[in-house]
Amino acid sequence: MLLKLQNSILKMVAQGQELGVMLTRLCSEVELLLPGAHASILTLDDKNLLHPCAAPSLPAQYTGALDNISIGPSVGSCGTAAFLQKSVTVIDIEHDPLWEPYKSLALSFGLRACFSSPIFGSNGTVLGTFALYFEETRAPTPLEESIVIGCLPLCMIALESHERLQEHRRLAFTDVMTGLPNRAKFNEALQKKGSTDEWSLLLLDVDHLKTVNDTFGHAAGDDLISAVASRLASAAHPLPAYRLGGDEFAVILDESCRKPLEEIVGRIVATVSQPVKCSGHTILPTVTIGVAQSSERFSVAETRHHADIALYHAKEESRGTFAIYDEAIASVILKRAEAIRNVAEALNDNRIEAWYQPIVRIDTGEVVGVEALARMRLSDGTMVPAAQFHEATRDAQVAVNLTQHMSRCISRDVGNWLRRGIPFQHVGINLSAADFSGNDLLESLEKTFAAENVPLHHVILEVTESVYICERDQNVANKIGSFRAAGFKVALDDFGTGFASLTHLITVPVDIIKIDKSFVDHLGPEDAGTCIVEGIIHIAKGMGMRVIAEGVETVAQAELLLERGCILGQGYLYSKAIPADEMTTLLERRGQRYDSATKVEGDVQRRGETRAY
Ligand code: GH3
Ligand code: MG
Repeated sequence: MLLKLQNSILKMVAQGQELGVMLTRLCSEVELLLPGAHASILTLDDKNLLHPCAAPSLPAQYTGALDNISIGPSVGSCGTAAFLQKSVTVIDIEHDPLWEPYKSLALSFGLRACFSSPIFGSNGTVLGTFALYFEETRAPTPLEESIVIGCLPLCMIALESHERLQEHRRLAFTDVMTGLPNRAKFNEALQKKGSTDEWSLLLLDVDHLKTVNDTFGHAAGDDLISAVASRLASAAHPLPAYRLGGDEFAVILDESCRKPLEEIVGRIVATVSQPVKCSGHTILPTVTIGVAQSSERFSVAETRHHADIALYHAKEESRGTFAIYDEAIASVILKRAEAIRNVAEALNDNRIEAWYQPIVRIDTGEVVGVEALARMRLSDGTMVPAAQFHEATRDAQVAVNLTQHMSRCISRDVGNWLRRGIPFQHVGINLSAADFSGNDLLESLEKTFAAENVPLHHVILEVTESVYICERDQNVANKIGSFRAAGFKVALDDFGTGFASLTHLITVPVDIIKIDKSFVDHLGPEDAGTCIVEGIIHIAKGMGMRVIAEGVETVAQAELLLERGCILGQGYLYSKAIPADEMTTLLERRGQRYDSATKVEGDVQRRGETRAY
């Protein structure tokens, strides 16, 4: 019979049954073998506290009272057996001193004798106790003793296999580096959310971790992640904070959070944003948080997606703080998605054209170069200017396809002008951030212009200041260097609008600086814009760079620019962007020949100022 019992318990262990189920079955089988006995199994935790695990025939009030009892030299049969690490036989609970503090409890349930044995683990530690209670005062029989001896290894196997399963489960759901519950645990927690529950999801992403890695090393980045993790865990306590991977974390707020959402999220931001030492460097960490609130209208997956969108939006608009998903954010994202779709379709249908805006020598009105601007032809024939689908270039694939398409159009037009001997010097082509993330831009541009026999010195790659200063890594700087080495010219677009420090120009030189329209708009004698423009012109000249003023709209602005020493301008005063055939006519009338500036001006310094390059 014992063998049969062993087999059935081992089978349950192999099947990975729950511990309570297995040991309850064990107790029940033992009670069938030993009529009158009540079997009980308690487990012992690492704080030496006992916990009821299985006792199918004892009253729940009794076993419940044994929970969290600390073992000791005279703590009933089980507490003493665990403490002394040997079997304890109490034949009369009422009169045995070991039971003194507990006897009234046991007696109130009619329990009068109890024989308990420690369950040892394979390493010799006590895992719990196995006990037989009786409702009469009596000593154990040899059969009872042998059944207890036969059951102890079964208890050990069940408890240890349960422990191993728990440990596996714990590891599978824990992030090793931070000790926080991981993405799998997060997914599990989300799955438990019902659509009628009220909850909010916070998705957090550490700001500029790549810069910390690049500047101070990966170990500092690891320290930063760990610091953010522990601060977040304490700010979210008692709710768990999850590490989803990389520098992404999550917290799920539920009904237990009484404070307003903004206050909770604000507190998390403030808790994380304290200076911390990372590998010997003091870093001020910041995180950006996207928040979404549950609603009956949305599935759990949709709410999760909303939090992603809010995070994405916050990274763009309010980095270092948080954004809560709402209709306004949804509409920005929808508009963007629509713009991306429209441009992708237009590229597919070949409805995107290169138009050209002249860059003019302010003193003579000669066209010294052109900037190519994308225009999208709608089905009704109207043309949409590039600014309106600028949003679309936030999609990396669309941005790269657009650059490819534009460079093909431009090389065809320029090839045509050069073959026909039309006076032409330079064309500017706008690059976006996504163009710098791939590795084949240089090669693809070289091929495209080579196909039309356009020498690369005719091509100016225009990079916005925000891309130029991109703090990510050396990538943009290296690529700008390789474009210039290949023969392209590089212009810094919208100069002054971002954070381009002048010192950056020393480490990453460019050929041309295009002063943003916002400065040109403030060129009055009393205006601060004037000093800035003067300063930029002075520094650029000193560094051998050309300066072009963008957005010139009035004669007065043109004159002021000329007075300040800026000879090249671009703007509505001269011309809006026009289609290639109109530009052909304009170049024929007013185009400056590539070599004419040299012949006319004679000296190198002067020549440089009067050409786009
Ligand atoms: P952003 O401000 O936009 O969040 O940019 P970021 O530099 O923080 O970069 P992003 O969030 O886009 O990507 C996270 C980066 O963190 C990618 C990877 O280089 C780095 N990273 C991911 N996991 C670890 C890690 O365990 N340790 C370290 N040191 N760096 C990591
Ligand atoms: Mg990040």
